[in-house]
Amino acid sequence: MICYHHSEWGVDYATLKPEVEALLNEGIKKEEDSSKKKKLEQKKEQILTNLDSKLQAFNFWKEVKVPVKPGIPEDWIFDPSRNITRKRLPWEINIHDRSNKKEPQLAYFPASPKVYHFHPVAFVEQMRRIGGCFCDRDLTVQELKEIIVSLRKSESSIYTGDNKENIFFKSNCNLPSEDKTYERLVEELNKAFKKYEINTCIRKFHFIAQTYHETDRYRTTKEYNESASYAPFIGRGLMQLTWESNYKMYKQYSGKDYIITPDIISNDLFNAIDSAGWFWKQGKKLSVGSNWKAPSSAPSYVTDKNPNYPKTKISYTTKGQVKNYGTIDLNLIADDDYVDVISWLVNGGSNGLLERREYLKKLKEIFEYDKKCINKK
Ligand SMILES: [Zn+2]
Repeated sequence: MICYHHSEWGVDYATLKPEVEALLNEGIKKEEDSSKKKKLEQKKEQILTNLDSKLQAFNFWKEVKVPVKPGIPEDWIFDPSRNITRKRLPWEINIHDRSNKKEPQLAYFPASPKVYHFHPVAFVEQMRRIGGCFCDRDLTVQELKEIIVSLRKSESSIYTGDNKENIFFKSNCNLPSEDKTYERLVEELNKAFKKYEINTCIRKFHFIAQTYHETDRYRTTKEYNESASYAPFIGRGLMQLTWESNYKMYKQYSGKDYIITPDIISNDLFNAIDSAGWFWKQGKKLSVGSNWKAPSSAPSYVTDKNPNYPKTKISYTTKGQVKNYGTIDLNLIADDDYVDVISWLVNGGSNGLLERREYLKKLKEIFEYDKKCINKK
């Protein structure tokens, strides 16, 4: 919480009292326990009673007022308390406008009379995060832009022409134009990160590396091949949800009918991102069981890692029939930093494997993951 009110250094009791009282009332209102509420009321009366003397103690500015005597050089003053003439201290020059014979001014205070108060713990937390890692905080527009532009620059054929920085500009991408902005993208991404627990640097980097590849570098939300054998259930959204069965599973989860209108996954930014978050957390369809280990048919770059992750059973109904599948939370694999395993589960093969590895590496480099992340294993 951040509170703001007048500074107790610059105003009188009559001005500050109602502000302090309103602030304390806010806190009392939130307390549900009646005996604690009563104690807070008493505390409030005590604070308000002491406020006047506290303010008088703070308001010592008039006491530092110094007389202007003719004949004393501009940067000197007569100090009546010690009956001497001495050079001004730097702050005295600011508070005493000698030429206009004005009263001392609180020159070091900002023009606004409002002062912001941060809880010290929150303040330290925030300072620690500035320029720090992405664990438990939102990405900013600037950071997301830096991610996408840096990734594009890492592939010379991508960072060309008029669309170096533009997103979702491919002709098959039918997002509304107001959603083709970094502001909207970061807003929806941050929402999905919270909803699907993509809440550490490494989880975010893995998610972005995969979706960056799936969306053809954040240039579209839809597969280019409209006449694929599995059409109309072609790849859509940031994780390219594909095949009717996956559309059905996501429909069951979200309650929106993606079977009748599959295009709403690629034409709506929320759906495009939410479908990706859902896939990441619980949309990868596997057999029902307690743990996922790589099948022997998996490529060696997967089996080498000896993956062993808990599976969750998801049930859904389609055409009156209950269906079950086991799924795996890809966050857990991201925690182990197994990009090859995630790539294989996302893609079902090795398409873009090298790029996905590179994107992840690049993201770690740009944000100095090794040095900055507070949760790095
Ligand atoms: Zn971190």
